[in-house]
This record gives sequence, C-alpha cells and structure tokens, in this order.
Amino acid sequence: MRFDIITLFPELFTPFLESGVTRRAYASGQVGVHLWNPRDHAQGNYRRVDDRPFGGGPGMVMMAEPLQRCLEAARQARREAGEPEPAPVVLFSPIGTTLRHAVVAEWAQGQGAILLCGRYEGLDQRFIDTHVTHQLSLGDFVLSGGEIAAMALLDAVARLQPGVLNDEGSFQQDSFNPALDGLLDCPHYTRPEVWEGREVPAPLLSGHHAQIERWRRDQRLSITARHRPELIEQARAQGLLNAKDEG
Ligand code: SAM
Repeated sequence: MRFDIITLFPELFTPFLESGVTRRAYASGQVGVHLWNPRDHAQGNYRRVDDRPFGGGPGMVMMAEPLQRCLEAARQARREAGEPEPAPVVLFSPIGTTLRHAVVAEWAQGQGAILLCGRYEGLDQRFIDTHVTHQLSLGDFVLSGGEIAAMALLDAVARLQPGVLNDEGSFQQDSFNPALDGLLDCPHYTRPEVWEGREVPAPLLSGHHAQIERWRRDQRLSITARHRPELIEQARAQGLLNAKDEG
C-alpha cells in the first residue's frame, strides 16, 4: 500500500517515519510513504502557496493552483509505480468522518491514498470540490495543520498490517478490536510484583490460563462500562456478551 502525502512541512514526518515499532513497515514499503511539498510546484520568485481570503478576515488560504500541480505530480508518480487508479484523495479536516477503529481498519485493508494536510485557514474550496474524495477528522478540536492527523492515520494503519508488531496478532488485544468485542483494553502490570506497596492482581500471578483470561475479560467489561458504556451496549446488541460476562 502506498500513501502520498501533500504537506508544506514534510520535515515533520522524518522522526515519525524513523521511530518506533512501525518504522520497518515504512522502510520496507509495506506501508510506503512519499512526501510532496506544494511549494515545489508553486510559481514565481516567492513560490507562493497561500493568499488572503476573499471577503476579508483573518489568516491565509492555501491556493488551488500549486496544490493541483503537486497532486498531479503525485498521481503521475503513482501511475509510474503501477499503483491502482484512481487513488482516493483524503483531506484532513474538522468536517471529516472522525477516525475510529472501524474507519482505520477499512483504510488498513485498502491500497493507500493521497493525503492532503491543510494549513492556515484551510484550502481553497474549489480545489476541495474538484479533487477531494474523502475527509477525515481527528476529533472535535482544531489543529494547526493536517500533519498530525496524517501521522495518526499512518501509524494506526501500519500497526494493523500483518507482521508489523513484534508480537504477531498483538493488535487484536488492543482496545476497540473486534477480537475483543470492541471493548477497551484491560490494565497491564510488569515487574516488580510489589511496587510502593501496591501488588499485582493475584490472578495474573496464578499461572492459570483460564483464570487470567477471565480476570482480563472482567476488567475489560468493567473499564468499558465505566468509561465508554455505549461500547458495552454495542457488544450486547451484537450478542457478544455471554452469561458469565453479564454475571
Ligand atoms: N479554519 C478551519 C476550521 O475552523 O475548521 C481550521 C483550519 S486548521 C488551523 C488548518 C488545517 O489543520 C486544516 O485545514 C486541516 O487540514 C487541519 N486540521 C485542523 N483540525 C483538524 C482536525 N480536527 N482533524 C483533522 N485535521 C485537522
């Protein structure tokens, strides 16, 4: 899968792509990442990529023309690499669908996309109307740019790829995963067994697999009921809770 990212700040991605468990996925191209800067496709001595908004008001707006030339360069590179066409064009925006596990899981099974990171007040609407096929939001707050949202999508997609995490299948033990019936994760403990007078829960030290699994399931159920009761309702509506869960 290949992601082409259009951003005025490609340098922000360097430490992200080179760190942590997902870096192998980016380095090997399992989740290929290619960076494009609209400034490289702007014209004139100043390589201008933004201008004042018509109608007045604060801030600047990203101009359509450099964005379109940059998008065309990314599309051409994808064609030359034999990527399937047409690629989805995703704009990160507060307008978009909020990123949730189900949304990430769909992108994780796809062929990749061209990702647009907005800056300033956003992009000229005519460019959005002409080219954007999907909009994604990180949540109900405003970021200074779409780069952090792009990194969030890339990271979440990469960790769902087979073999990316050190422990095969460990992402299935994470919050929201259908393998855990969409519940939140249970608490985790490591050595020492007693820390500042606090003990590791006894079932985790029992060595008894069924007892450990029951304790983890009960913890997931109670944490989810406390923090995200609607997820319990969803699991119940889907018939995923059994008599022991409900007991
Ligand atoms: N004027 C815009 C508004 O009020 O909706 C905010 C623009 S914001 C300062 C600049 C860019 O950050 C946006 O174009 C978008 O790409 C990105 N951005 C801001 N908030 C976001 C969010 N919640 N999710 C995803 N991207 C976001």
